[in-house]
Amino acid sequence: DLCLQKVRQTSELNAFVNITEDVAENHAIDSEKRFYIDKKIKPLDGITIAIKDNFCTKNVTTTCASEMLRNFVPTYDATVYAKLINNGACLIGKSNLDEFAMGSGTVDSIFGPTRNPWGYNGETDWRIAGGSSGGSAVAVSSGACIAAIGSDTGGSTRNPAALCGVVGIKPTYGLVSRYGLIPLVNSMDVPGILARNIDDAAEILNCIAGQDDLDSTTIKRKYQPIEIQENFNLSNLRIGIPSEYYCEGMSEEVIDTWRWVADLLENEKVLLKSVTLPHTSVSIAVYSILNQCEVASNMARYDGLEFGLRTNEDYSTEELYASSRSQGFNNVVRSRIFAGNYFLLTRNYEKYFLKALKLRRLIANDFNNVFNGDNRVDLLLTPTTLSDAPLYGDFVSKHNRDQCALQDYCTQPANMAGIPAVSIPIRLSKTTTTTEILSKLNISIDALPQKCQE
Ligand code: GLN
Repeated sequence: DLCLQKVRQTSELNAFVNITEDVAENHAIDSEKRFYIDKKIKPLDGITIAIKDNFCTKNVTTTCASEMLRNFVPTYDATVYAKLINNGACLIGKSNLDEFAMGSGTVDSIFGPTRNPWGYNGETDWRIAGGSSGGSAVAVSSGACIAAIGSDTGGSTRNPAALCGVVGIKPTYGLVSRYGLIPLVNSMDVPGILARNIDDAAEILNCIAGQDDLDSTTIKRKYQPIEIQENFNLSNLRIGIPSEYYCEGMSEEVIDTWRWVADLLENEKVLLKSVTLPHTSVSIAVYSILNQCEVASNMARYDGLEFGLRTNEDYSTEELYASSRSQGFNNVVRSRIFAGNYFLLTRNYEKYFLKALKLRRLIANDFNNVFNGDNRVDLLLTPTTLSDAPLYGDFVSKHNRDQCALQDYCTQPANMAGIPAVSIPIRLSKTTTTTEILSKLNISIDALPQKCQE
């Protein structure tokens, strides 16, 4: 009830596209009975969750924030959702995203943009939540739920986690089933976790990870649950700082924070060293080509006949396809379909798609080289985003739209290599308090509406 109350209080943030009050109510009745009569408890009892609206939920609309699927009601549950519910979690709503998870801001949704709770005071210009799982990040950061599920193809869980100040985990590819996650790029998609701290995130991961017969790409090995050790000894760790990740457009604040965390770790006797991932400079281009090619093939199913919005155009089948797609998809989706089909033309296939596949292998090998061998490191330390949360007006300006892919500079290589990654919120300095951060943003805590102060 308290979470649903919070959802209503923070409705201006637009984190949810659908509040599933009846699902939550039935769940509460069932778990009360199980708890008091059968005396059985489950690991996620009492844990409220939000699920990004590109995961199928039986009998609950799953729209991908697109006109194309506005009325789509799945007849089955995504494995991730089924596992969470079986473990006792309670769904309070489906969260907002960029249409079909294409974007880094949660600004391109048919339900309107999601707003970052940090610094939000009801003014016309506010900070973006990041994306594409911005609704999930805001749901957690505003206190509407304990954890949320996002998806991560090029950074979509870690980016909004970083901009909203919560933890965001992108698991290893294949560790968590993609069954029921409406695909963006099958070879890179993973369900992601957003939570307020590492312990909660690990608990959720332990409940959703593992082989799934319904997803042939899941890892066959038995899953070893993660245990967070209270007094983990950092002094045996070797952490690499990839020099290529200092890139043009990275804000001073991000660089300072990166340095500050490195110093902090060094003080704890961690061995820090500079490493090189030489193919980083081409990774955005490679990611874009592969993304668009897979998008072109994935989106072909939405033709207005078999799947998706059907318009009344009945002059010819081709006209029907064209009008359903032009009314069903936004510009971002349409241009990726267009570009993807261009890269996949017989005459371009080798020049773009095949070359990008080869480069993707080299990018993955860069990681292999730093994580294996004599000079190996255990972890890499990098920023998640290039800056803190941009103002909405700036983010959607023409120039930034053109630069949008750069938002994923530090995140997408991990998707191409299939390796795990996590974004952890970091304070600017040991002494920085929330009030100081707000004053840096020129915001007084008293100026915030009560709901945001809380
Ligand atoms: N911003 C990236 C894209 O639009 C990442 C999307 C994602 O991870 N879902 O492709």
